[in-house]
Amino acid sequence: MKRKDAEKLWTWCIDEVSRNENPDMVSGILSTTMIKEVTRDLLIVAVDSEFIRGFIESRMLELLREQCRELTKNDQFDIKLVVEKVSRDEEPPAEVEVAATPQRNQGNLNSKYTFRNFVVGNTNQFAHAVCHGVAKSPGTLYNPLFVYGGVGLGKTHLLQAVGNFVLEKNPGASVVYETSEFFLSEMIDALSTGKIKRFKKKYRSADVLLIDDIQFISGKETTQEEFFHTFNELHNTGKQIVLSSDRPPHEIQKVERRLVSRFESGMVADIQAPDYELRMAILKRKAKELNVHIEDEQVLHYLATHGASNIRQLEGTFITLVGKAQVLRIAVTKELVDDILRDRPASNVRIVTIDTVLQAVSDYYGVDRGQLTGKRRNRQVVKPRQVGMFLSREVVGATLDDIGQHFGGRDHSTVLYACNKMDEDCQGDPNLQQEVAEIRRRLES
Ligand code: ADP
Ligand code: MG
Repeated sequence: MKRKDAEKLWTWCIDEVSRNENPDMVSGILSTTMIKEVTRDLLIVAVDSEFIRGFIESRMLELLREQCRELTKNDQFDIKLVVEKVSRDEEPPAEVEVAATPQRNQGNLNSKYTFRNFVVGNTNQFAHAVCHGVAKSPGTLYNPLFVYGGVGLGKTHLLQAVGNFVLEKNPGASVVYETSEFFLSEMIDALSTGKIKRFKKKYRSADVLLIDDIQFISGKETTQEEFFHTFNELHNTGKQIVLSSDRPPHEIQKVERRLVSRFESGMVADIQAPDYELRMAILKRKAKELNVHIEDEQVLHYLATHGASNIRQLEGTFITLVGKAQVLRIAVTKELVDDILRDRPASNVRIVTIDTVLQAVSDYYGVDRGQLTGKRRNRQVVKPRQVGMFLSREVVGATLDDIGQHFGGRDHSTVLYACNKMDEDCQGDPNLQQEVAEIRRRLES
């Protein structure tokens, strides 16, 4: 590839990634990068500091890589970041250190999630202890292990840490990590292409099976059936199963009794929202990992109390904070924290309202809000409108009257009809079910 083309490609990627992330942040950070070298399969990009490299790697490298692959139509295409003073004059380049890209291990694990970098506090101590125990001697202590807790509290981190730990000790072990959504789509795919044997083998030959976000099997009968058999086969042969969910087993709706009782038959551990101490500990830990020194401890305190309700948001706010300070070359202060929190209302405790639901449904289906609340009854709008009413009840917990009000002054019996109909339609229509699940996920994340 020619250098000029590579530059175009990079600029294009920056634009594209800006759409998904905070645009000022992305262009601010990526504008400090420079293309260093390009070959047919590899783009080497120089970045200013170790921090910027870490930031790009954790937040956008995967997306950038995907974009490049798509644009070059080359599945092998990769990006490497090297830390070097990015100067646009002719100084000879400093020693080049090729940064390791995050490694995808066997079993679909991301090596960045380990027990070593999991910070333990009151709210996650128990879940951490049982996961660690299971990782040390899989299949013997608690089987299955069921971990549950709200969004961004470390469930995926713990599940993957179990997998990484097992593989570190025993590289030959078969560890399989997937989300239940992936399990479902892979199964459907296998059924339609006649590769169900291979699918079964993948899951049933695992020594350690880690299924993340198991709540998504709700209402999916065939998946539950298949998972039930997989579960039994592994369990009977003493293989370790670890599951995560956003709620305890008995609160997952529309799951067969026999599965719920399997889920409850081993150990059930919960993770609670982090308390102040854990938030502080996590911030200090992240600062150390990113190699940044924050002089004013008050800033951390402020961030810990105002930054976010969960660990993912806390981490995100902190990285944005440090990134912005570095790019703009200014000090990390309370004011800067405020600045960032103002830019990112989502980083505060997110309250989902009927209004948020209307917006999410409108975005998802590409139907104007005006149409959702309007009177017309054409097909394109009736379904989204019903989905909206349904989710307003399920996610917001709003009253029928309130929902009716927001949806153009409809009667509460109209809302009730819509909700019941959605409930019914979802049963027989996996596509609809997935649409609803996706909008719900967006609302709750
Ligand atoms: P969940 O799966 O529960 O939604 P994740 O496991 O994806 O949450 O965690 C969100 C982010 O917070 C991840 O980047 C994870 O590494 C980080 N995280 C969560 N808990 C901890 C912890 N105790 N120590 C360090 N990082 C954590
Ligand atoms: Mg998760």
